Amino acid sequence: MAITKKEALMAIDREREAICTASDLVWDNPETAFLEYKSMEILCDLLTKEGFEVKQNVANIPTAFTGTFGSGKPVIGFLGEYDALSGISQVAGCVEKKPLVEGANGHGCGHNLLGAGSIGAAIAMKEYLEKNGKEGTVVFFGCPGEEGGSGKAFMARDGVFDDVDFAITWHPMDTNEVWVGSSLANYQVSYRFHGISSHAAGSPEKGRSALDAVELMNTGVQYLREHIIQEARVHYAITNTGGFSPNVVQPYAEVLYLIRAPKNDQVKEIFERINDIAKGAALMTGTKMEMEFIKACSNLVDNTTMQEVMYKNALEVEREGYTEEEMKLASEFYASLGSKKLDIQAELKNYEKSHKAAAEAVMAPYADAPINDFIMPLADVEGCLAGSTDVGDVSYVCPTVQFKGLTEVAGTPAHTWQWTAQGKSSIAHKGMIFSAKVMAATAIDMYEDPAKIEAAKKELNNRLGGGKYECGIPKDVVPQAIKPKK
Ligand SMILES: [Zn+2]
Ligand SMILES: [Zn+2]
Repeated sequence: MAITKKEALMAIDREREAICTASDLVWDNPETAFLEYKSMEILCDLLTKEGFEVKQNVANIPTAFTGTFGSGKPVIGFLGEYDALSGISQVAGCVEKKPLVEGANGHGCGHNLLGAGSIGAAIAMKEYLEKNGKEGTVVFFGCPGEEGGSGKAFMARDGVFDDVDFAITWHPMDTNEVWVGSSLANYQVSYRFHGISSHAAGSPEKGRSALDAVELMNTGVQYLREHIIQEARVHYAITNTGGFSPNVVQPYAEVLYLIRAPKNDQVKEIFERINDIAKGAALMTGTKMEMEFIKACSNLVDNTTMQEVMYKNALEVEREGYTEEEMKLASEFYASLGSKKLDIQAELKNYEKSHKAAAEAVMAPYADAPINDFIMPLADVEGCLAGSTDVGDVSYVCPTVQFKGLTEVAGTPAHTWQWTAQGKSSIAHKGMIFSAKVMAATAIDMYEDPAKIEAAKKELNNRLGGGKYECGIPKDVVPQAIKPKK
């Protein structure tokens, strides 16, 4: 017997416990970029139990995997992440800073929810195809190393998303809204200088300082800033100063650059100029420069066609209310954060004049509420996030849409212990289940209207001006786990 979209979404309720358990288990085993072995196992187990065919070592990345069901077109992709951050371990549910394990990793960006929630959406899509005996393929993409690693960019470079007709994902947040707007593209590059050591007082003329080269390179880049586009951001960290002895001419030094701009080609141009500065610094100091390309990620390409479908579903899908106990915990967290009020004026910048009043009316009752329990009206001004996400690379390859699902108390900043603390709460679980349903409902609506899929593809093509995706990462570069150097 055929089933409706609403009935397909019920599969998420049926599998709710398994989805929430997987999320909690990933939270219990926080692993940083490209080291997510246990997290991968937990999510692959869930996919196998749910009847997906699991494939690991995707794009030759040990912690990248897929879970596939069905065959033929369209190919519907759901993207999941599961990496954690270092140093933000925290006891779940605790409103005071209290690491679970001192100095250990923690899920401070909610990727435990992100991975399991996207599998929830894939489960409902599978139910829809299976019960209705329809053609089509649903693929859950297990994408490692989002934090500082751009796993999806490596996967996109290797053609993993080439057959996907459209992709859907989400990110845990303190609001419910469809993600509108771009993000910054970036390149991460390491510059290493090799010099000659000598006694800094006795024979300085024999030494060639690698640390001087790093300092001159950074100074050169400060002068460059005036002559690049306003929107670009260039950051660096000196990752090796060549030792702590000032009486030794430093023979080796290293600086890590992160170059960002709104568009891929803008980053590339700035990168080439920074390379020249690095060469100049080596020339000035008589050292040798070695450049290592670490990773790149693309800016997000908006897809209004899909955003509108997702917004309609965000309004339609039923949300669970919050219990008194949940409201009490939310109030405690909200107070501990210094009651971070919703900045309505800042949010209103995302709306055209004629829509501002309506958007304000939706937000106003929550100006000082511990939970932003509303659906943010669909933004009609496409801004640019002052940060980056590797979802950008997927959005260049196929039409892509993202939901932001309310899993955190209002005003909780990402990458903090407060965020880790809330990752196993029933509020977070409710937000994950709701987001899974919104994503699945969006996919089913797209599936049922092939003209929409075509429109979304046409829009992507128009936004790229007919251009094709070109990954910023050179072919021979492989993903690296970020670990402190000995
Ligand atoms: Zn993050
Ligand atoms: Zn994140």
